[in-house]
Amino acid sequence: HKYVYDFAEGNKDLKDLLGGKGANLAEMTNLGLPVPPGFTITTEACQAYLASGEQPAGLADQIAVHLAALEQGMGRRLGDPDDPLLVSVRSGAKFSMPGMMETVLNVGLNDRSVVGLAAQANGNQRFAWDSYRRLIQMFGKTVCEVPGEEFEHAIDEAKRAKGSADDLDLDADDLRALVDTYKKIFSKHTGREFPQDPREQLDLAIGAVFDSWNAERAVIYRRQERIPADLGTAVNVVAMVFGNLGPDSGTGVAFTRDPASGAQGIYGDYLANAQGEDVVAGIRNTVPLQELERINKAAYDELLDYMARLERHYKDLCDIEFTIERGKLWMLQTRVGKRTAAAAFVIAGQLVDEGLIDLDEALHRVNGAQLAQLMFPRFQLDHGFEAVATGIGASPGAAVGKVVFTSARAVELAGQGEDVILVRRETNPDDLNGMIASKGILTSRGGKTSHAAVVARGMGKTCVSGADALDIDVPRRRFTVAGQTVTEGDVVSIDGTTGKVYLGQVPATPSEVVQYFEGELDPAATDDALVRAVHRIMSHADATRRLTVRTNADTAADAARARRFGAEGIGLCRTEHMFLGDRRELVERLILARDANERDESLAALLPLQRADFVGIFRAMDGQPVTVRLIDPPLHEFLPPLEQLAVDVAVAQERGEDVAKEEALLAAVRRMHEENPMLGLRGVRLGLVIPGLFAMQVRAITEAAVECTRQGVRACPEIMVPLVGAVQELETVRTEAEKIIAEVVGGSDVEVLIGTMIEVPRAALTAGQIAEAAEFFSFGTNDLTQMGWGFSRDDVEGAFFWRYLELGIFGISPFESIDADGIGRLVRIAAEEGRAARPGLKLGVCGEHGGDPDSVHFFHSVGLDYVSCSPFRVPVARLEAGRAAV
Ligand code: PEP
Ligand code: MG
Repeated sequence: HKYVYDFAEGNKDLKDLLGGKGANLAEMTNLGLPVPPGFTITTEACQAYLASGEQPAGLADQIAVHLAALEQGMGRRLGDPDDPLLVSVRSGAKFSMPGMMETVLNVGLNDRSVVGLAAQANGNQRFAWDSYRRLIQMFGKTVCEVPGEEFEHAIDEAKRAKGSADDLDLDADDLRALVDTYKKIFSKHTGREFPQDPREQLDLAIGAVFDSWNAERAVIYRRQERIPADLGTAVNVVAMVFGNLGPDSGTGVAFTRDPASGAQGIYGDYLANAQGEDVVAGIRNTVPLQELERINKAAYDELLDYMARLERHYKDLCDIEFTIERGKLWMLQTRVGKRTAAAAFVIAGQLVDEGLIDLDEALHRVNGAQLAQLMFPRFQLDHGFEAVATGIGASPGAAVGKVVFTSARAVELAGQGEDVILVRRETNPDDLNGMIASKGILTSRGGKTSHAAVVARGMGKTCVSGADALDIDVPRRRFTVAGQTVTEGDVVSIDGTTGKVYLGQVPATPSEVVQYFEGELDPAATDDALVRAVHRIMSHADATRRLTVRTNADTAADAARARRFGAEGIGLCRTEHMFLGDRRELVERLILARDANERDESLAALLPLQRADFVGIFRAMDGQPVTVRLIDPPLHEFLPPLEQLAVDVAVAQERGEDVAKEEALLAAVRRMHEENPMLGLRGVRLGLVIPGLFAMQVRAITEAAVECTRQGVRACPEIMVPLVGAVQELETVRTEAEKIIAEVVGGSDVEVLIGTMIEVPRAALTAGQIAEAAEFFSFGTNDLTQMGWGFSRDDVEGAFFWRYLELGIFGISPFESIDADGIGRLVRIAAEEGRAARPGLKLGVCGEHGGDPDSVHFFHSVGLDYVSCSPFRVPVARLEAGRAAV
């Protein structure tokens, strides 16, 4: 079995086998770029090693063959006392896991070859001994688990003895002495001498890199980033080149475009006389890459040429690591670079302009999550605000408020109209009310799947989690960070996208992308590159997608905004939302009606109000379809809470007041009380139990449509019956509704469709029967998920989902992204059997999943006609529907 590939044998498409770094080193080698020679040990070798605990058979021999070729190519031998070859041993998995796994540099140095290295470096003893001490330190720490602090103490001690704070002030003799100290530390902790055999060093280093795949931090990172645990890492063995041989050497990073804004140009940093690890450690300050032109024009021009070639080759932003050894440029790494959401759009647009990619490909280069990020307001940081801590951007947005440390205090201050930020070490279900009351949530512990993160995302609330620089003292209501103390009531600003935490009130700007969607920014006239790019890509998504995008809206204002955002109809108008506020009393009267007369009076009072609601919405949608759902929630939601009412009545009786009316109310509330209202009297069941309720709504909808038509506004109502589980329920409602519609429409040119939600699992499984009585289906995936999984949608997210996510039972809440295997299967069955029974049956989805990127792709694949989502998610759904279609 082939476990080792020379760089010349690989290419960029072999990431599964060679890891990202190895595949790209191979690609650069084959492009003729100056890559130090080397070879890659495959991820398969790693998998075999991790399974058995030892190198697979044949690997050692293959390494020997490739090492011999490497030695021959370099004209040097590993460990040669006169002219040694040194190699680096670097991890490199398929998906980048920055800093999570191990690397060992300078392998091949020992007590004898260190002398040869000095000779190689023109007698530079200091460099040779410094390289040796780095090897013992890195090898000791990563391969043999020697505590890193011991080495750091030793070097600090040496600097103190020298009276200096700078590594560069240690001379060759100091470093030689330090090597002795390091070797003692090594043998004290390992019970053996530092290995002098270079091949043993190499084998142990390779094993350590394999093992680092299962290091705790790597495991946690993978879980968070949803990287499969069984991929393993490749190992790259590369000839060392040195950036620390003097002022004509150095190391740097370069980006072919600005990864923050996407702007074209040369971006990067350079550090003279240094190795890559010095840049990472921030020991000395880098200079902008442009400075390299002055320092070494030939190398600079050469680098620019390679950058341009790499970008044309990869057809994307590349990031690059390079080293200059005594004036000669070496390319150490490249990859398609990470970028901000804004840069993703801008760069995709530029690459289309440059003819490198087409618009279909541009759609692949961006996604709905990025677009959603660009729609949040952003902090304006040009006022000198510096972050005091950085945690995990757990739920996006920009939140500002007064710090509180308990849920109770959050509720109290928010009740007084204050904006608050709830600060906790970590949250638990008891914090739910405080989280609801807060503008944002800040925790010092926990990652993207912590309780705080999950619940905040569910609520659409800004959250920064795991800001571990915060030292939180809840009893004293304060925290310290960066040497400052923040007490209850102090203002902080948190950025849920970047994870940054600021003291004080950072001003926020609205998103220019939202201004564009609102029609306030003309993409043809603006010089804002982001807006132009978004416009172009969105236009292509619209031209490409097969799914229509509708919105969930209950008011004319929401409907109008959604249209500006590109909605092509209303997929769900929840009429129960129209019964709140002042109208609550009318509904209360309806529920408490003692006879048909009283009930008819309440319904008659509600009718004109409802009709006016619908006229407003039909006007706003102006000819687009409007799905109006008949009232859904349990009626007791319109009545006062049972316990409070019981207490009030008892107190009033005690005082001898006349409580006849209150008692009647109490009796009604008792009568309607349900232990499990979500499975109780709601949806179609209400319509069947309360005579005249659905009829009033059907009449209001149809009258509104007729009225609009008379005034020259086309209205296309679709009446939707909720919570149907059996065709007989729907037929009963339908028979009554059809009579009313026929009577109201008369001779006018109005068509009213009647359809149903599919949100009870039984409805999905009997869709063939139900389709006989329905002109359309709309999947209510919220209830379908609730009833399909048996999860109470109002309770579980805060109560135990964080644990399910931690255990990986699911990667994301099934209320957020459709569970394709289970709930999705119900959707598929209903779509197929519904269409088989009634060809051309219109199919849509109006649960929360309609605006979730992955779910949109799923609904596209099932062949639905439309998705419907909240107004702010309409652009995301348009984009993802376009991406699903290319
Ligand atoms: C649903 O259940 O998916 C739905 C859209 O209805 P509601 O959320 O109002 O229950
Ligand atoms: Mg529902």
